[in-house]
Amino acid sequence: MSRIKGLTNTQAKALIKKYGLNKVETQGKRSFLTIFLSQFKNFFVYLLTAAALISFLVGEALDGTLILAIVFLNALFGLYQEWKADEALESLKRMMVLKARVIRDGKEKEIDSKYLVPGDVVVLEEGGRVPADGRIIETKVLEVDEAILTGESIPVSKGKGDEVFMGTLVVKGHGLFKVEKTGMNTSFGKIAEKLATVEKEKSPMEKKMEDLSKKLGLLGAFSALLIMVISYFKGLGGVYSFLLAVSLAVAVIPEGLPAVMTMTLAIGVREMAKQKAIVRRLSSIETLGSITLIATDKTGTLTENRMEVKETFLLQKRDEKAQELLILNSILCSTANLVKDGVGWSYLGDPTEGALLIYAAQRGYDIAYERGRWQVLEEEPFDSATKKMWVKVKNKSDGREIYFCKGAPEVVLKEAKEILIGGRVEKITQREKKVIYEKLDDWALQGFRVLAFSYKEKKEWVFIGMVALYDPPRKEVKEAIKKAQEAGIKTVMITGDNEKTARSIGQQIGLLQKGEIVLTGNKIEELTDEKILEILPQVKIFARVSPFHKVRIVELYQKLGEVVAVTGDGVNDSIALKKADVGLAMGKTGTDVARESADVIITDDNYATIVKAIEQGRNITASIKRSIFYLLSCNTGEVFSILISLGLGLVKLFTPVQILFINLVTDGVPALTFAFSPVDPKVMKRAPERRLSLISNERIKKILWAGFLSGVLTVVGVFTFGQNGFLFKRAVAFSTLVFLQTFIFAYIWFNGQFSLERLRKRTTKLFLFTFAFPFTIQFIIMRSEALASIFKSSTLSPALFLILVLYSGIIMVGLKLSTKL
Ligand code: ADP
Ligand code: MG
Repeated sequence: MSRIKGLTNTQAKALIKKYGLNKVETQGKRSFLTIFLSQFKNFFVYLLTAAALISFLVGEALDGTLILAIVFLNALFGLYQEWKADEALESLKRMMVLKARVIRDGKEKEIDSKYLVPGDVVVLEEGGRVPADGRIIETKVLEVDEAILTGESIPVSKGKGDEVFMGTLVVKGHGLFKVEKTGMNTSFGKIAEKLATVEKEKSPMEKKMEDLSKKLGLLGAFSALLIMVISYFKGLGGVYSFLLAVSLAVAVIPEGLPAVMTMTLAIGVREMAKQKAIVRRLSSIETLGSITLIATDKTGTLTENRMEVKETFLLQKRDEKAQELLILNSILCSTANLVKDGVGWSYLGDPTEGALLIYAAQRGYDIAYERGRWQVLEEEPFDSATKKMWVKVKNKSDGREIYFCKGAPEVVLKEAKEILIGGRVEKITQREKKVIYEKLDDWALQGFRVLAFSYKEKKEWVFIGMVALYDPPRKEVKEAIKKAQEAGIKTVMITGDNEKTARSIGQQIGLLQKGEIVLTGNKIEELTDEKILEILPQVKIFARVSPFHKVRIVELYQKLGEVVAVTGDGVNDSIALKKADVGLAMGKTGTDVARESADVIITDDNYATIVKAIEQGRNITASIKRSIFYLLSCNTGEVFSILISLGLGLVKLFTPVQILFINLVTDGVPALTFAFSPVDPKVMKRAPERRLSLISNERIKKILWAGFLSGVLTVVGVFTFGQNGFLFKRAVAFSTLVFLQTFIFAYIWFNGQFSLERLRKRTTKLFLFTFAFPFTIQFIIMRSEALASIFKSSTLSPALFLILVLYSGIIMVGLKLSTKL
């Protein structure tokens, strides 16, 4: 690799001017106008437009205009919500940048792949996406999955001179390629238009919400029709009967629900991104909230992935030949690379290999020089299933050919028949093996990650020695595991590492308690599904497992009824990631393949972030449920108010414009506010809800109760405070209904719990604003002759206004009572 200089930075800069950024534009984003127009395409709008038309026809021009204004305002409101939601998703897309390892000025570095230009030399790694179109200039083993272009999912083997295409996936091996085409000039760019038309997938929650809206819509239409017929035969006139029916339908149909939900999800997604969890599918938010088990990797997720060589082991301490071969092995049998960064070294590629290269560099080895002296003839890349890798290299000056192998000690030792001692190769004895295994155990018990090295020049593999790497557990993990536990979420570790290493780390982070089991990959192979299911509840760690075991583990847990979140980084992890209820890919160490199979990307690779994401998920669903609770309580309140007043002979107490206004101002705005409600720590103190239901039967009862109370209190208010004529009664009814709903909002915001602590924690500026907003608007209306007359009502004195506010507050007591019932 050292021979290749690549472009110079100056050349690259010039070329990017000529060819533009290496980006494929898919026209996913909807225009402002499209979203705005789409607001008018619903039943609710048709209904209101008809109502407006009829108002104009019968000479009620003011009513007609007002209704149209409300339709328009409602559309603006919907536009705002959807625009915000689209924007949040769009910015998420931008966050998912693809990185490329490029060689420029003879140095390898990592850049955002959008800055690649034709002529660039790029390193392809297992699990990565090919970032542009071009030709292979160097490789030993390279297999690419081109399904995205050809639909054929069997990987294609690539050699020197072969073409590779943007967007295809490297599933095995590595190599170098020279970029020929970028951006929209690539084959992928040409078909991107087609890809952009993929429909946005609806989440189960969205589907449930639509279902709910539809049912309520039918209910609304039916009851409206009924009321229309009744009032018509009671002699209220055709026009009034129709308008009344329309307002009732408007009252029942929760037209704002779907938009409120999308908005809440989108805002939640943005919040989660800030906390380092990027959600790739909106629907995974709800599933995150229901997770009952997290199956997590060890390396990098529970630990810091700051690997460092702590000790080396050779059978004879100062065996120079073995020492040299061990380091040569680390340098040649490796896909990582070193870069100088100011004071020291940093690496590109696999952290384990990076640590070995840094170790070699610190001992004075020049990595590029050594690699220049040897030619790689063949290689077998590292695979977390076989847990080893090897290369065959040829010395360029003397033609000497050697195989180098490194991997998990158990695997390497099984193949090694000979051993290097004091510069001589001998048959390996049982005693020596015992010494090696004892060292391995000793290191593993301290939580070290151990690698063994061997080489082959003649017939047999010769054992060289071992290296202990240490990767400290993350500090915050212990706390996070406890938090998950309190939330009824189990955590288990799945690792390719040694059993004892895993056990030691598991104990350090409080994952493994007395009596809990560590199950190894070998054991998993032996046992039947039934046997594993029996012990599964006691297992906390799976060690020395392969990605294929991982899939089986996920399936078995799901059989036990667990809702499983699984982490993954490698190519082989993608099946498990897809099988899981929520697949979590690692943002830093994860391959593109893993990231694209996942539902959520954890950008800092941290276990604690997973727990935070679950907490967010639970909070978001709680917010949505609150919005639903609120909107439906209000709507039911309006229906009950209309029905009860009608039943008591208070005909035409509410005007359609009033109801529309209440729906927009007192319902719509607060319902949205729930999306911004502060995180409720209590959500992590209860067991997960396995299957999400938007409104439980319990909730339905509460909604009906709140609606019924609103109806009764409104009418009682009218009889108690509204003695001075019919217009005055209207003023009282209108205002009381607004106030009652605002108190319901406050009640739900605080979850009906008004402890001082809760009040302090949840009283945000936004809450105060939303709470004060309807009172203020109402005050302005009821104090102005002109405005009050729009609503066909009289004005109210400040004193009575205040009395009505206080009176409406009673509903809080009524609501509180219902929890005791
Ligand atoms: P995990 O990610 O759970 O730690 P891995 O599959 O990465 O598991 O590693 C399993 C074992 O394979 C390690 O304990 C180590 O002995 C060996 N190993 C890991 N990475 C490499 C590598 N790049 N080359 C050779 N052996 C490796
Ligand atoms: Mg690994």
